[in-house]
This record gives sequence, C-alpha cells and structure tokens, in this order.
Amino acid sequence: MGDPDPTNDRTETERLDEEYVFGTWAYQSEVDPTEVTGGEGVRFTDASGNEYIDFSGQLMCTNLGHSAEAVSEAMAEQAEEGAYFAPGFATEARAQLGEKLAEVTPGDLTKTFFSTSGTEAVEAAIKIARMYTGKDKILSRYRSYHGATYGSISATGDPRRLVAEPGVPGMVKAPDPYDYGSTLDPMESLEYIDEMLMLEGDTVAAVLVEPIIGSNGVIVPPEEYLPRLKEIAHDHGALLICDEVMAGFGRTGEWFGSDVFGVQPDVMAMSKGLSGAYAPLGATTVTPEIAEHFEENMFCHGHTYAGHPVSCAAGLAALRTYEEEGLIERSSEVGEYLGDRLAELEEDHPSVGDTRGVGLFRGIELTRDPDDRVPFGTRDDRMSMGSTVLDEVSAAAMDEGTYVANVINTFIVAPPLTITEGEI
Ligand code: PLP
Repeated sequence: MGDPDPTNDRTETERLDEEYVFGTWAYQSEVDPTEVTGGEGVRFTDASGNEYIDFSGQLMCTNLGHSAEAVSEAMAEQAEEGAYFAPGFATEARAQLGEKLAEVTPGDLTKTFFSTSGTEAVEAAIKIARMYTGKDKILSRYRSYHGATYGSISATGDPRRLVAEPGVPGMVKAPDPYDYGSTLDPMESLEYIDEMLMLEGDTVAAVLVEPIIGSNGVIVPPEEYLPRLKEIAHDHGALLICDEVMAGFGRTGEWFGSDVFGVQPDVMAMSKGLSGAYAPLGATTVTPEIAEHFEENMFCHGHTYAGHPVSCAAGLAALRTYEEEGLIERSSEVGEYLGDRLAELEEDHPSVGDTRGVGLFRGIELTRDPDDRVPFGTRDDRMSMGSTVLDEVSAAAMDEGTYVANVINTFIVAPPLTITEGEI
C-alpha cells in the first residue's frame, strides 16, 4: 500500500479507490483522488512524499491540526474501555461533553442531542423546531449549505439542492447579506425576510442561517444583522437556528460565529471542529424551554451512533484542547495577521476582488474586473463537469505545496487554529 505503481503512475490505493469507491459530490468518471499517507501539525503528505500546508483544514474541519495527541489518546482509551453502548445508556464521555457544551455555547443553551455529522445536527434542529413550535416551514437563505441529507439539502440554498428538488416541503428561501456580490444591501435583505415572514403567515417554525456563511463564499454580515434577524424571527413566532457547523469552535476567533455578534440562537447545530475532525460527531443544543417541552413530548428521532462514546471522548478532549492551548484567542490574533496579509493581495493582484472574514475564517474572492466586480464563474459552475479557473489555481497551489479549497469565485482559507504566522 502506498507504493507508486510505475505502470500508470497511480498508486495501488488510488487505483483501488477509483475502482471501488463512490466519490462525494463528484462525477465518477472524473474522480482522481490523490493518496494521502499522513499528517503532522498543519501539514499532510501524499504517497509520493510531497508535503502540503493545509490552508483549508481539509473540509474546514481539522481545527486542531493533525497532532492533537490528547484527542487520539482519549479515543483509544475509550475504545479500549468500551467502544460502544446504545444511546439509551449514559456514558461519562457523553455526559461530560454535554456539560462542556453547555458551558462554551452562548447564553443558556443547555441540552444537547448528539449525532455524527453536520447534516444530522441540522436535521435534528429542523425536527426540534417543527415539533416545538407545531409549525412546518423553515426559512433559510439562497447562499447557504446545511448538509446533504434530505431535510438539510432541502433547506440548503446553493445549487447542490437542485438535484434533490422538490425535496422536503415547506422550505422557503430568502436573500442573503452578500455585500460584495449582490445588488441588495445586507441590512435591506433583512427587511425582505421580515416581509416574507409576514406574508407566510404564522407558519414558519424557524429561520435557519449560518452566522457567517461558509462554503458559499465566507460572507460576514454587518454587526447589527444577526441581532436584528433574531428579533425579526421572534416577532413572527419563529425560532432562530444557527448552523455553526463550519463557523464554530474557534474558527472566527470566538467559540462560535454567533458570539461574534453577541447573539444566542434558540437552537445551535454543530459538527466539524467539535471533534477537531478526529471522529464523526454532530451536536444540536437547545435552550431550557425547548428542552423542557421534550420532557413531556417525545423527540421522535435518533441514530444507533448518536452520542457514540469514542466520538464523544474525542469531542471532550478537543474542547479541552481548545481551552488548554488557548486556541480560540490564538485564532483571533493569528487571524488578524492573516487578514492583513490577504488584504495586501487586494492591492497587489488584479484578480483579487475582495478578501474578507474573521479570525482564521477567510475568503479570497477573485474577479475578472475589480471595477465592475465581474465574477469568474457562476453558481451553475458548482454543478457542472470540468474545472473552473479557481480549480486551476487550486491545482497550481498544490504543485507549490499548498492545499486551498475553492467554491465558485472564492478560496476558503480556514487553516488549523494551530497555524503560525510563519506558516501563513
Ligand atoms: N452546515 C454547514 C454550514 C456546513 O458547512 C456543512 C458542511 O460543509 C454542513 C452543514 C454539513 O456537514 P456534514 O458534511 O458533516 O454533513
């Protein structure tokens, strides 16, 4: 395993993978995975021995880098002590992780439903909102991604939803606060949401948003946006669900994207950085009022691996690592340096239209023409075969030893929070 095959330049692993594994969000004929063999700190290595600095934390999730021994040790210990018990039993790892989440999440968010991924965390949030309010609709925004399972993809606004349409009924889409690329003023877009909620009547269970939009371009709304959105949602009897799957766990220089705006949502969905990507783990945390409702009403939902002890052990060790190593504060400090250096690109490079973000969560948006903000690609490119200009830049960056993910017109810069200024 791992030895390059001289006959076709593909390693045995790459050949087997191509033959037997379905890619995700990929055309099977285009699948061309590179074999990776290991990682250390913010770097990873391929089978030919090439080393890459990971500027996107893989899928914006390896917040602790590849050397968080406390996390891998906690997982090994838990696996040895008892790898799996059904969710109907209490385990120390799950109970303590629940307590820790109540401590680090904003305000009085207290009680957590555990799952194994971001999309499951969002699915649970949607079901909780529907069951709690007795209403069906979910209002989300066009520039959003909430996961690939049916409820979450139906709530998703970006073109990935199209293959699943008509999808789950009751999903209403609203405009977003995209200052650089939309004709709509971000705060004005909120008034549309207010109007839409009024026109929908009293039928919307929740407004579901990423506090900072991630895979649709790292879009940071104005400071007053999220507090006002919460007010608007509550005025119309809807809950505010924050999808913190990508923005959470120090990425923004705060524990959560919601903290950047001083907002406590009613329901929060989390994953990715929750375990530093050491194990699949999702979490949906709610207020005491919502939790109380489900003490008398069954929460008709669950998974075999909900609150898997090994994943919860990883989550608990990950949260302790964020704290013990001061990584949240670090993300804020080093993130400022990163932001300054990216801003220089705006001055120096004719194709860099905008750089934006907070903490170690940044976007570099390219443009064909900085004056008129002409985009390189369109939203349709997301679902089309073949590579975009940004894919070519990402490939060139790989040749130079840097991995950076891109979406349509924007590179997503979200390295592990352990990155140093030198590595940046
Ligand atoms: N929500 C957001 C904001 C995401 O960025 C993602 C994944 O990128 C998801 C949900 C879905 O998470 P997962 O891929 O773990 O199901």
